[in-house]
Order: sequence, then structure tokens, then C-alpha cells
Amino acid sequence: MKTEYIYAVNGRVWADDRGCWLFSESLYDEKRAVEIYDISLDEFRSVRLIILPESILPVNDQVNLRLLLSACEEAEYVLLSRAAEVLTWDKDHNFCPRCGNQLSHHQQDLAKQCDHCGLVQYPRLSPCIITLVTRGEYCLLAHGVRFPEPRYSTLAGFIEAGESAEDALVREVREEVGIDVCNIRYFRSQSWPFPHSFMLGYFADYAGGEITPDPAEIVDAQWFHYTELGSAPIPPAFTIARKLIDQFISDCQR
Ligand SMILES: [Zn+2]
Repeated sequence: MKTEYIYAVNGRVWADDRGCWLFSESLYDEKRAVEIYDISLDEFRSVRLIILPESILPVNDQVNLRLLLSACEEAEYVLLSRAAEVLTWDKDHNFCPRCGNQLSHHQQDLAKQCDHCGLVQYPRLSPCIITLVTRGEYCLLAHGVRFPEPRYSTLAGFIEAGESAEDALVREVREEVGIDVCNIRYFRSQSWPFPHSFMLGYFADYAGGEITPDPAEIVDAQWFHYTELGSAPIPPAFTIARKLIDQFISDCQR
């Protein structure tokens, strides 16, 4: 089986000027690497993530992870988001959180271990819910305070310690827009490496209440008829938010 290579520098995936980030040939001597991770997902595809010092691989300021992800087919999306999340974890987890000792590469797993107290640290994932609330032929989209562009998207939020995904969904929707939901249906999930979110996507039905945006989180929220969505500023095609919206449109058209 041939090995494929992803290179990284300074905690970020490296791409060349054409936006290529996955290479079928080794470009650099692995002896010069700062760190190497085997990020193969199964036995059919071998992928190595090679972190190089900036003296060998200068940072390419043109590389934008969102743009690279937006151009990916599904299998490549998995690899790229995996590489980005491992890099964030590698950069941010150098010392044992229990005893402060420097962590070392785990012998078998994609993990780091503390040789002093034995604690093992795996790449960090932060589970979130993301939901499209629907009301007949309308769906609820919101413009968040942190959105850089004039975009309307689905509601999302982190799952808190001890919560189920369904509990988190009901709580987040109530907190962010003041409405109640019922009939929660799982849709699909997506890794979202900004920096280490894991999105669990759901549909939910409107059950009651008036839209009352929480000003700390939401600038505006509105009901959109499915026929309006084609011209609305909704998220790009590669996002799970958009996949929820597209599924809703397709269900309404049936
Ligand atoms: Zn320790």
C-alpha cells in the first residue's frame, strides 16, 4: 500500500500555492521532522502527518483551512479535518495536566503519555449539537454575533458535562432564541476543526414560544420559507449546517 503525506508547520496544515495539501510522494526527509503522526483511518489507506520546522517548510500565509475544506470530497474532508485537529492538540498539549511532566509520544495509539504518572492524552474533541428547527414549510435561521459575514445559519452549541445531545439541543434553542422544540431527529455528524468541534446534526420541530434572540449570542433570528432559502445568505455546501438546510428544502419539495 502506498503512503500519502500531509505536511504541517507551526500548528497548521501546509498547502502549496495551488492548494494541494495531500501528497502521494514524500517531499522531505522524515529525519528532519519535529513530530510524525500516523493518521491512517483504516488499513486501506496509509497517511502520515509530518510536522516540520519553519526552517525547512516556511509557513504559507495563503493557506486557509476553510477554503481547503470547502474544496474537499468527503474522504479528503475527513483526512484534512483530522490532520487539523491533531495539529491543534499537538500544539496545545505538551505537559501533563495532572503532574506537569512533559508528555511523550504514545507507543501504540495516536496519543501522548506522561512517563511520570502514566496519564494518557488523546486528541481533544468537543461535542456540539447543531440543529435546524422547522415549522411546516419554514425553518429558523439566525445571524450570530461572531459571524464575520451577513450569514444566517442553524443554531449550534456545546454539549455540557453530563448532558445528552437532546438535552443540549433543547437548552441551546431555548437560550439562544427563546423557543421550545420537540420531535428531535438525528441527521448526521461532521468533524469541524475550528478548533476541535464535533457536530451532531439534528432536525427539531417548533413546539412553542416567540423568537427572542439572546443578544449575547444572536443578532437576529427569522423564519425562512423554504422557497426563500435559494437567495438567502446561507452557509456553504460543505458544512453540516447547509446539509441540514438542503435536506429540509428537498423534503419540502416532495
Ligand atoms: Zn503526569
